[in-house]
Amino acid sequence: MSPKCPECGSTHLHQRDEVRSGGSKGPHLLPDLGTFWSSARITVVICADCGLVRFYGCEDARAKAMEYWAPVSSTPDPSVPPPLP
Ligand SMILES: [Zn+2]
Repeated sequence: MSPKCPECGSTHLHQRDEVRSGGSKGPHLLPDLGTFWSSARITVVICADCGLVRFYGCEDARAKAMEYWAPVSSTPDPSVPPPLP
């Protein structure tokens, strides 16, 4: 069975592996999860029908997140902006 888009159910999904999660001209999507020399890698998946884009951190980034990032205490509500620090 082909993977489906969680937004629209389409199977027209495309992915790009080993994408840098940050750079000199853009936001760092995974701060502290890369190395001194390079940002963490992500796999990007886009739905060709509705445009939903999802990011998946590489295995190293996921392991580092457990050490450097705080766990989410409850399921985030995407319609509510996060509180300011
Ligand atoms: Zn979709």
